[in-house]
Amino acid sequence: MLRLSDLLERLLDLVFPDRCAACGRAGGLLCPTCRAALRPYPSEAPTPGLDGMTVAWLYDGTIRHAVHAMKYRRRRRVADALGDALAASVPMPPADALVPVPLHAGRMAERGFNQAEELARRLGHRWSLPICASGLERGRDTGHQARLNRAERQTNVAGAFVWCGPGQPPARVLLVDDVLTTGATLAACAEALRAAGTREVRAIALARSLARPRGTAYAKMGTRPSV
Ligand SMILES: [Zn+2]
Repeated sequence: MLRLSDLLERLLDLVFPDRCAACGRAGGLLCPTCRAALRPYPSEAPTPGLDGMTVAWLYDGTIRHAVHAMKYRRRRRVADALGDALAASVPMPPADALVPVPLHAGRMAERGFNQAEELARRLGHRWSLPICASGLERGRDTGHQARLNRAERQTNVAGAFVWCGPGQPPARVLLVDDVLTTGATLAACAEALRAAGTREVRAIALARSLARPRGTAYAKMGTRPSV
């Protein structure tokens, strides 16, 4: 059931479509104050199965509000603002094409769009990279993973993705997702792409939390953005 505060937020989104997705004030979909408040994510080794991993920001209050507005209040255009900020914040990883992490058909119907695809389109526009949004498919609904630990997530998503063509996937793929947690979903996507012929798989995400689900080992941290 929708809480009254959520209902009010949705109403405000309708009346003021350009208010900031993070703080609600006027000044653009991601206002300069909130944009400046985003904290860079420390570099870390890519999750197993990936050749590279770029995470722009720490998943804290500001980005959480913006992602929540995009996904759960269905403010599709927030993805453009986040995609622009992402492209401006990190170096472009080597890739032939962008592949958004697919959403299950049921979730797609519920939300009306795939936020990862929206982000990928914006990144593709900024970085002049093509998008392959339909080749990689999610074969079954893996449900909400928030309460699963790392091992459970891996089992849950293993084999959930398959490359359906047409043709082979690009040789160097950059997977796009909104928020990175354990990386199990990205690893499963990478496995499906490699099985179909991709040689290098990197990933990019807006944000990741430093507080990991149970059973997740911390990777070694540095200070430079990981590419
Ligand atoms: Zn703001």
